[in-house]
Amino acid sequence: MIRDLPAFRQAVELLTSATSLTLACHVGPDGDALGSMLGLGAAARAAGKKVEASFGEPFDLPRTYRFLPLDLLVPPGEVTEAPELFVTFDAGSADRLGVLASRVATAETVLVIDHHVSNTGFGTVDLIVPDAAATAEIVYHLVSALGWPLDEEAATALYTGIVTDTGRFQYSNTKPETLRVAAALVEAGARPEVVGRHVYEEVPFGYLRVAGAVLGRAVLEPEYRLVWSVLTGDDLAAGGIGLEDTDDLIDLIRIAEESDVAVLVKELDRGRVKVSLRSRGRVDVGAVAVALGGGGHHNAAGFTWEGTARDAIAEVRVRLPRD
Ligand code: 5GP
Ligand code: MN
Repeated sequence: MIRDLPAFRQAVELLTSATSLTLACHVGPDGDALGSMLGLGAAARAAGKKVEASFGEPFDLPRTYRFLPLDLLVPPGEVTEAPELFVTFDAGSADRLGVLASRVATAETVLVIDHHVSNTGFGTVDLIVPDAAATAEIVYHLVSALGWPLDEEAATALYTGIVTDTGRFQYSNTKPETLRVAAALVEAGARPEVVGRHVYEEVPFGYLRVAGAVLGRAVLEPEYRLVWSVLTGDDLAAGGIGLEDTDDLIDLIRIAEESDVAVLVKELDRGRVKVSLRSRGRVDVGAVAVALGGGGHHNAAGFTWEGTARDAIAEVRVRLPRD
């Protein structure tokens, strides 16, 4: 039981005694990074704490998550230099905080809240629970043990973290406990149809063009049971959307039934690419990502690479089992 963990009790003590909280999630934040951070932030604010939340550059918020309590956010350049309590969310290592990693050294106390199995801890207290489907699931237990108000705003943010990290309750990380927490969040005011619409049913028309280009150049390599594609800077420009709005593109290519592993390479600036990996379970893409300087989970991982998309694909391919 998560509430019996020594780190859980220590986290409750830290959060109870702090008057001012500085929150940070990983760079390129997804639904769980933002949802867990803003959910705890909203509940802390309702409990009378002073709260600021941020994430490292680029400080671009995915459009999808504009319904979350964004008034808690400040740009990374405005984050307190020496926080009283610095709390990190969904970041498997300090470098995933980007420019805000510096606060790990300057803060009085650091609390790490995460569910990445690869996280070896970098805080004063490390609450790392790999069994949790989402960091937001851990935060729900904290808020409830703290007795902080769980209003509609906070419940919606936490529910969003769970929905996105479980792929709408369809991945193997969806445990009975995950569904119990989701039920408690719906009871507290989260509305599944509202979260579902914002996250999965609303994209700008330009996204369709971008998806079309990425799907159109997808490649299947049956000998590796690999499907991959590339997202170019020109695609984004033509569709009028930002890189931060492309998190779900990989979900469109990974459904090819001939594949066990899906890879989407996204062109960044200056000859760098960001690589997203997904597995159906047979291959540990987390290990592949770690070998290439990144990280993640068994079935979902990523890394950044200096070089072309083809170089990056080649690096992944040699680490895959061949049929
Ligand atoms: P995505 O492909 O959606 O960006 O990321 C999938 C998973 O891999 C997430 O759990 C994310 O935290 C992790 N991940 C993605 N990119 C990186 C990276 O560059 N470094 C590390 N350590 N983890 C990453
Ligand atoms: Mn994440």
